[in-house]
Amino acid sequence: MSSLDDYSTKLLLDIKDNNLVFSGFYLAKDHVTKVLIAELILPITSCPNCHDPLVHNGHCLSHIHYLAFDASKPIQIELHKQRLYCRTCHRSFMATSPLINKHCFIANPVKQKVINDLTVDRSMKDIACSDNVSSNTVLRTLIKFKKQPQVDDYDYLPEHIGVDEFRGVNRQLHFICVDGDSHQIIKILPTRLKKDIMAFFEKFPLIVRSKVKTVTMDLNAYYQDIAHALFPNAQVIIDRFHIVQMLNRSFNQLRVQTMKRFDHRDRRYILLKYYWKSYLTPYNKLEVKRVKYYKHLRDCMTQEQIVEEGLDASPKLRAAYDLMQTLRQSLTEHDSKQMAKLLKSRADVGGQMKTTLKTFKRNRKAVLNAATSKYSNGCVEGTNRRIKQIERTAYGYRNFSNLTARIMLESKNAVLKENTLSKIA
Ligand SMILES: [Zn+2]
Repeated sequence: MSSLDDYSTKLLLDIKDNNLVFSGFYLAKDHVTKVLIAELILPITSCPNCHDPLVHNGHCLSHIHYLAFDASKPIQIELHKQRLYCRTCHRSFMATSPLINKHCFIANPVKQKVINDLTVDRSMKDIACSDNVSSNTVLRTLIKFKKQPQVDDYDYLPEHIGVDEFRGVNRQLHFICVDGDSHQIIKILPTRLKKDIMAFFEKFPLIVRSKVKTVTMDLNAYYQDIAHALFPNAQVIIDRFHIVQMLNRSFNQLRVQTMKRFDHRDRRYILLKYYWKSYLTPYNKLEVKRVKYYKHLRDCMTQEQIVEEGLDASPKLRAAYDLMQTLRQSLTEHDSKQMAKLLKSRADVGGQMKTTLKTFKRNRKAVLNAATSKYSNGCVEGTNRRIKQIERTAYGYRNFSNLTARIMLESKNAVLKENTLSKIA
């Protein structure tokens, strides 16, 4: 055993407990683990009950797992906790420290480090390895975070919210609701059933719910009914991305149908097949000047020429293209008047595009809102992408509440201040 300077040891280990005194260290039997010897003093001399003097009653020894700079060289503290005894009321008292909880052998700083590590995208096994604890300890810390009493605040809802769903535990769809401005998660529900969503939001008084101004969502008529029922003053906004996606999809379907009418070696077939991306590019962004060699056509053309020549193959395709492009343009230019006019279009644009138009007409107000409002479902889709990554890193979750706890930890929702950390540890 070698001697140890108390002051510098505490400085290095970042321990501020004055009742703890380091005296020496030795190497454990494995020749790697450093064991630091420390005494924990009980700073009282008289009994708190009867105020009689206490007598010394030995030490309680425990080996505490502590933070190490390098996980392959663990540090242990051999802690001698002082015990005092009162002869009058036959009680004994043992020294305690904020460093370690009762009946625990893992120091609180280690648990705090685990919680901190849980806030980044790392697997639990990885965290367990680098912090030198078992993966069960990591899971236990997560469960402790999950179980800490959460104050559900039912007298505030943000003015702009976005709703969506994502696939999680057991390939089930979970409902998610996100603040449109701060992008914080408001709630994740295990199912997306109407009764569950209604039950959650009905906990908020009507006066709070009527302050919600917009609800963004994808083209899901199901959520629209719920939104109208729950938020009386809210405008429903269909996400811009989903509108464009539907338009593109219906145009592509018609393009493939038209393409298949021609022979494989036909120039129109090649134009419609290989250069499909050019049709989806906004018309004003097409290359009009620079000529490029296209190897499938064995010809030099500009991008605009490709599109124009391809559309010549069928008037129906051209009509669908014009409708798609102008609708998309009015969406980017926030021109809801032009959009309303386009929705009434009676041009022959093919079956799929007609169905899309019908869907838009059915949700006319919500679709037109997409053009005027600056809010979209981007924040929810972004959150969903992050959730997907969390699930992927963990190779999936089996427990819904563990998944939500990890999502909350990794999103900036959980403001992890020092005191919250210590409460968990
Ligand atoms: Zn006493």
